[in-house]
Amino acid sequence: MESSHRSFRCLFFFCAFILVEKIHGNTLRRQNPFNFEQDYDEPTCGYEQCNLGQPDMINVHLVPHTHDDAGWLQTVDGYYYNTVQYILDTVNFELHADPTKKFIYVEMAFFYRWWNELSDHMRHAIKRTVDKGQLEFILGGWSMNDEACTHYSSIIDQHTIGFKFLLDTFGKCGIPKIGWQIDPFGHSREQASIFAQFGFDGLFFARIDYQDYGERIKTKTLEHMWFASPTLGDQASLFTGALYGMSYSPPPGYCFECGDSPVRDDPRLDDYNADQKLAKFLSDAKEQAKYFTTNHIIWTMGSDFHYSNARINFKNIDKLIKMVNAQQSNGSKVNAIYSTPSCYLYALNKANLTYTSKKDDFFPYAHRSHTFWTGYFTSRSNLKGYERTANNILQVCKQLSALAQLDDEHSSQFKMNFLKQSMGVLQHHDAVTGTSKQYVAYNYAKMLSTGIKECQDVMKVSISKLMNKSVMDPIEDFQFCNLMNVSSCKFTETNQNFAVVVYNPFSQMVGQYIKLPVTSNQLTVFDDKLMKLDVQFVPVSSETKKLAEFQGSASQFELVFPVQVPPLGYATYFVNKSKKAMDTLESKSRSDGGHIEGESGSGQLDANTLENEYLKLTFDNKTGLLSSIMNKERKLEINAVQSLKYYLSMAGDNWNGSRQASGAYIFRPDGDVQDFSKFGKTKLTIFNGNLVSEARQVFSDWASQVIRLYKGANHFEIEWTVGPIPDNDRVGKEVISSFETSIKSEDVFYTDANGREMLKRVRNYRPTWNFENTEPVSGNYFPVNSRIYIQDPSKNIQLTVLNDRSQGGASLKEGHLEL
Ligand SMILES: [Zn+2]
Repeated sequence: MESSHRSFRCLFFFCAFILVEKIHGNTLRRQNPFNFEQDYDEPTCGYEQCNLGQPDMINVHLVPHTHDDAGWLQTVDGYYYNTVQYILDTVNFELHADPTKKFIYVEMAFFYRWWNELSDHMRHAIKRTVDKGQLEFILGGWSMNDEACTHYSSIIDQHTIGFKFLLDTFGKCGIPKIGWQIDPFGHSREQASIFAQFGFDGLFFARIDYQDYGERIKTKTLEHMWFASPTLGDQASLFTGALYGMSYSPPPGYCFECGDSPVRDDPRLDDYNADQKLAKFLSDAKEQAKYFTTNHIIWTMGSDFHYSNARINFKNIDKLIKMVNAQQSNGSKVNAIYSTPSCYLYALNKANLTYTSKKDDFFPYAHRSHTFWTGYFTSRSNLKGYERTANNILQVCKQLSALAQLDDEHSSQFKMNFLKQSMGVLQHHDAVTGTSKQYVAYNYAKMLSTGIKECQDVMKVSISKLMNKSVMDPIEDFQFCNLMNVSSCKFTETNQNFAVVVYNPFSQMVGQYIKLPVTSNQLTVFDDKLMKLDVQFVPVSSETKKLAEFQGSASQFELVFPVQVPPLGYATYFVNKSKKAMDTLESKSRSDGGHIEGESGSGQLDANTLENEYLKLTFDNKTGLLSSIMNKERKLEINAVQSLKYYLSMAGDNWNGSRQASGAYIFRPDGDVQDFSKFGKTKLTIFNGNLVSEARQVFSDWASQVIRLYKGANHFEIEWTVGPIPDNDRVGKEVISSFETSIKSEDVFYTDANGREMLKRVRNYRPTWNFENTEPVSGNYFPVNSRIYIQDPSKNIQLTVLNDRSQGGASLKEGHLEL
């Protein structure tokens, strides 16, 4: 058995080399193509080395590529070891064996790791293929980031680490020129703006709404100019191409790694198919060319994790190129070439045409009538929240290490790279989107946790240095409270005399309130001039105490006090045990814990309010819900009913469009929105205090809220706690925060793009095509990265909701907002 197995493998390799020899007419001199000990030419990378094809023919740019997700069904590590390392090994073997071959590589999270494992000999050999433009880096981010759930600062950061690696490693030949967002599920205007500001020359993607695609294919506008920022103008305009067939895989018939037959070109053998393959290629090229404005078309020759045996594709593409181009002597006008997206773009550029323009974005994306990819705007809300928190920590970490001018002795760059690289992976379009397998999502959270810990060490050393303290053992001195989301912090629960250092990463003075979980209300707080501050003790809610994550915590109160922190500076406060207990908040309304009774028809009970200098929030006794908001400065009051509600998830097996289920990617509600009435009355408890007042609402044993108004604030907070969502009825529930107001917003609302500029949204409408909405809820949902608002310009009224993580949002009726 052993010997026959071995001889088969020998035969296979022998055949492979014979083929290469025949096509290129030069004899392969070596078994090992990684022999670089020959003349070393000047780099010839860049547009100059592109094959621009034949001027009077249809030029088919065949782009060998692989799409390597930084985690999805497997962890990022799993994919590397199971597949990606072999892709990079075998592809580079092929590139060395034949200098006409090209390949693009995209995801630096994988390439960086592979590069680090190479010998100097191999690195030198790879660098030659980069210098010759055979191996070209496209996009060059740590991952191919999602565009809906990502914050602009994280998009920039994740490309920065990729670009820096490429520049340091390959010099100018490593610099990417093209955005390559082939798999993200919808496309953001801010992403295109950032790409243009990177200096990219173009952007290609595959996923575009099927109705939009239908219109663009008819009008030959899959390729167009995107004006991606109303404020930056030309600086943010970018050539953009949506790929033919809404796909980044090979055209049907040429996917040699997914079941399509190889080119069988020996007529003496059974299953000879070369003539059919050739005829199909020529006809497919002519068909595709009808929908494009130049004589160039692009075919993406690869897909998810393809090329782990690069021979499978390259051998067949070699045969196709040879057969297709041989027909030119018979008058064929089709020319096939190895190419890259940048060479394809260069060919278009040489044609010097003008294109139509677009100013909005490509959200939401639907690939059929009931399949709107709007679920992932919200999926795995906790992971999205953790990712945003980690981004904040990374920004502070970078600032503090720069301000403190840490040197290598502190390993700060090394430590910060953990979080930079983890965040790079988290931006991936199956990571922050919440669309990975559960164990992969846990792995993402673990990566963030490790990165945050490393960065906190950097922050401790930085703060110590800035405070002129010994930096020998800052880890002992400084502690972080990482579980504040469940009102738990071991350090503040077990100490009653400690200092609190608050850092302000903004370039302006910030005044806000700090909350610390504590066990006693016998504490006082002083500022750095030893002035005693106003404080307030807010009891930890019974809903918080029920959380699994709270168990083991001893905190009874949240100690609230105001802080003022200078720009890019810090302020120190001292917490001390005092002799006398401070007043704690009492619930104002009912002694039964504030449960306000109100049977229908029994008449209204007194309204309850939260009020400060700027705002008055009124709650309806009967429903337990917020009912109106008053802007006291303008003496302006609007009706505003806010509550948690939920949609039932559509069940289905996804077999066809009408059987589309709701899930992590797709949001498809089944019927109208439901309130929580089947779980009993909403319990309302109001606490009024000198610094903060709270309305606590319990909708069910798995859904509660706190509406919070601080002294001196011209906004209020809503903190929701939802889950675990019960599924014992086998019906999914998609929870929303709903605002129903009297604002005359008509059918218009506004959402942000990646935390930057706002886009105008009009219900059941798309600016560039005649939109037929087959999903009245999901088809109106858009990504809300940092804010959503409705307004009545005639009355100068606007309601803005700022969220702390990415969500989906919509305005489905005049005056309504939901997230
Ligand atoms: Zn992907």
